Amino acid sequence: MTVTVPSGEATLLTGSGSKLAAPLREIIANVSAGIPLSESDALSFIPAGTDAIHEICAAASAMRDQGKGSTVTFSPKVFIPLTHLCRDFCGYCTFRKDPRQAGKDLFMTPEQVLDVANAGATLGCTEALFTLGERPEQRYPEAKEWLEHRGFKTTLEYLAYVCRLVFEETDMLPHANPGTMARREIEALQPFNPSMGLMLESTSKALYAQGGPHEFAPSKRPRVRLRTIELAGQLRVPFTTGILIGIGESRRDRIESLLAIAKLHARYGHVQEVIIQNFRAKPDTAMGDAPDAETGEFLWTVAVARLILGPDANLQVPPNLSAKDYQIYLDAGINDWGGVSPLTIDFVNPEAPWPALNELKRKTEAAGFQLRPRLPVYPEYFLSTKEFLPEALSRKVSALPDAEGYVQGGIQRYAG
Ligand code: SF4
Repeated sequence: MTVTVPSGEATLLTGSGSKLAAPLREIIANVSAGIPLSESDALSFIPAGTDAIHEICAAASAMRDQGKGSTVTFSPKVFIPLTHLCRDFCGYCTFRKDPRQAGKDLFMTPEQVLDVANAGATLGCTEALFTLGERPEQRYPEAKEWLEHRGFKTTLEYLAYVCRLVFEETDMLPHANPGTMARREIEALQPFNPSMGLMLESTSKALYAQGGPHEFAPSKRPRVRLRTIELAGQLRVPFTTGILIGIGESRRDRIESLLAIAKLHARYGHVQEVIIQNFRAKPDTAMGDAPDAETGEFLWTVAVARLILGPDANLQVPPNLSAKDYQIYLDAGINDWGGVSPLTIDFVNPEAPWPALNELKRKTEAAGFQLRPRLPVYPEYFLSTKEFLPEALSRKVSALPDAEGYVQGGIQRYAG
């Protein structure tokens, strides 16, 4: 394997000779032999230098091959930004708007939601990703009035309503990603969402201290986010989470965040995928001058994530946030590209277009993998178990995939 690690000048690392300290070599040998990493073993990766990255990546890549074979997936989706209004302020966000910026479009109407979902279905998409700001009615009277006028007390009540519409009236499957949720809110969404999501982002305390990017974002406190992920586990909801890297957290913070996710998954078995997302600075934000996450750090994080989460985890890197060289993360152990849309932009990162599906296929295949479209819920959560999906959901989900649980027609539906 060859990994390009641009730390300053691009460095080409080849597989000759071990660059690992002996204890780390032993830890990697153990984990490669199927012995799960202990917390202290995971923390041993912190001092690894760039000269050790290719060996860590090789171990992670071998672990992915063992659990996932040569299949790499993506979810053909449409992105539905139900509202850009948000009660919180994160130092890197360009998604949020206040009512003055949003103008008359405080929320998408049910008709607008159905139009996007139906347009996506026409193009063969199966996921309707609902991403939205956190509880805007708690900050903005305009949001409260908009919702009350239509018979809803909260944004999450309205979200459950439009998820139901999409579930019942289109060929799409909703995947709600609305921020933190209480038990009753997850229960209200569950009948229409075969999976839901919430990025953990980080367990770092520094990020919500004075001057940190989460200082004015109470919903980003790790405790409340871990609580939402735990509630989803208790309710048997297949769940997507992940970490955001390059926003001021340390390597230790990343490992501790991944261990926290692994711990919840060990208890409930519901974490269907983990996203490793790199920070990209955006103009006109508090972090506009901060450097983007470095590729070497990103590779280290992805590889260590695979080693912590194990061979069966679904590990994702968004290709549009590393447009020039996203295929290198296949060498660090990922097996999924996440949602890619032939129709809608990434409203959270509007400056970063999705790769064309032809290109994604070509680059994935050139690296020795087979690209397959998946549903917003992974096959292991519906093919051989009835534990996770309520019956009506299970009926709709079962009608969409092939015998292996991937979208019928395969990649040929989207890319030649
Ligand atoms: S990242 Fe999410 S929670 Fe933070 S300000 Fe943006 S929309 Fe709100």
